[in-house]
Amino acid sequence: MSNPKSNLWESVIGLEIHVQLATQSKIFSSSPSKFGVEQNTQASIIDLGLPGVLPVINKKAIEMAVKFGCSINAEITKKAIFARKNYFYPDLPKGYQISQLDNPIVGKGSVMIDCEGDEKEIGITRAHLEEDAGKSIHDKYESFTAIDLNRAGTPLLEIVSEPDLRSSKEAVSYLKKIHSIVTFLGISDGDMSQGSLRCDANVSIRKKGEEKFGNRTEIKNINSFKFVEKAIEYEIKRQTKVVESGEEIIQETRLYDSNKNETRSMRSKEHANDYRYFPEPDLIPLKISSEYIQSVKEKLPELPEQKIKRFCSDYLINEYESKILNSSREMSVFFETIAKSVKDVKTAAKWIVGDFLAILNKNNKNISESNISSEDLIDLFKNLEENNISNPAAKKILEVLWDQDLTVQEIIKKENLEQISNEDELLKIIMKIIEENPKQHNQYKSGKDKLFGFFVGQVMKETQGSADPKVVNEILRKELNQ
Ligand code: ADP
Ligand code: MG
Repeated sequence: MSNPKSNLWESVIGLEIHVQLATQSKIFSSSPSKFGVEQNTQASIIDLGLPGVLPVINKKAIEMAVKFGCSINAEITKKAIFARKNYFYPDLPKGYQISQLDNPIVGKGSVMIDCEGDEKEIGITRAHLEEDAGKSIHDKYESFTAIDLNRAGTPLLEIVSEPDLRSSKEAVSYLKKIHSIVTFLGISDGDMSQGSLRCDANVSIRKKGEEKFGNRTEIKNINSFKFVEKAIEYEIKRQTKVVESGEEIIQETRLYDSNKNETRSMRSKEHANDYRYFPEPDLIPLKISSEYIQSVKEKLPELPEQKIKRFCSDYLINEYESKILNSSREMSVFFETIAKSVKDVKTAAKWIVGDFLAILNKNNKNISESNISSEDLIDLFKNLEENNISNPAAKKILEVLWDQDLTVQEIIKKENLEQISNEDELLKIIMKIIEENPKQHNQYKSGKDKLFGFFVGQVMKETQGSADPKVVNEILRKELNQ
């Protein structure tokens, strides 16, 4: 696609994020909501909405929604109402989804996002509870589509943003922020590859300086940070081209094809009244008391922003390091486990942010897939603190830790990496070298300073590189001047 005159246009984006809540059971029934079990083994008659059954709301799902609301400083409604959203689809046998329209559980709130060094506030319009539908499987049989209803009735929190985002980068930054909030809260595993967090991106463009929004399209069901960025990028370019050729943007629902990196029209945009929403007759309005909200607030775990600040003050690390160490819940737990067991936390943080993460990135793994455990790193850092190993040796050990199933101690032995920092031991070696090189010693004493390096080299040679350079320097300075 040719490059449009992009500086004329401004993009406007709003995200609808679906977060799968990490409850044990479904939102209106007691069947489990595990991922990846045998098809159609965990959908009860309630999830299918068979005649005569009655849904019962899952208390945990309410608590999780309230937790989220409190963490974005949103108003929690005192009276939440569930509604039937009617539509037909093969993976929705009951013909409606229980969702919320008016009186969603979480009202207006906001979050701060990082955008290229600056902070920006993004408004959140609402967050409501709803049930997921089943899943159509198109590649199991050659000429049929199979339906798996395990996912039917899985609790979702749909988080709707204001159209406050102005670029694909901002959209990704916002999505990452929501991801980190829900995972730090422990209300979702946030696993995008399993669909635990997915989003619809609403995209429009307008002339710069114009107030009125343009017609928008909605790209459905995007399931990775990378695809969100790419799909929005593509859509902005496509819309710019359409508008610049004098045509209008049709309000529609589109699909992102990650193989072709393009969006395609799926259907014309549906509106709320197409769904014939009405209050769910089988669920009475849900009353939420101020005392309950207060009790949830008091139990709220530490959120990423608070943790970033605390790490800086507790461990004396800088903000850049703290942000990286809090980039995911696993990462922050990993770091804190180590921080609690080593003396020199600052140095440990530098190693983790630097060499350790470099190895993870090189191998394209995230922290939960690391071959190196927090115990391994504690071992490594203790050896560094006690001067048992040098910095280059620690680097080498990290690499071997990743590739082989050995402990730090085993690697030190196997690779002969133990550092000699015992002063008596080094003094003996140094005396021997000085005795063996009287000529150089005399030249040094009569002012040839450069020869200091020669002596350091000799010690390193003698010890096969395992002498602690700091101690060697100290002793050499003293002894050479005798
Ligand atoms: P619907 O109910 O049809 O999905 P909403 O008004 O609830 O529509 O908006 C859904 C999402 O679309 C929200 O995230 C909102 O910020 C976003 N949005 C609304 N108008 C625009 C627009 N013109 N351009 C981009 N995003 C928009
Ligand atoms: Mg929508």
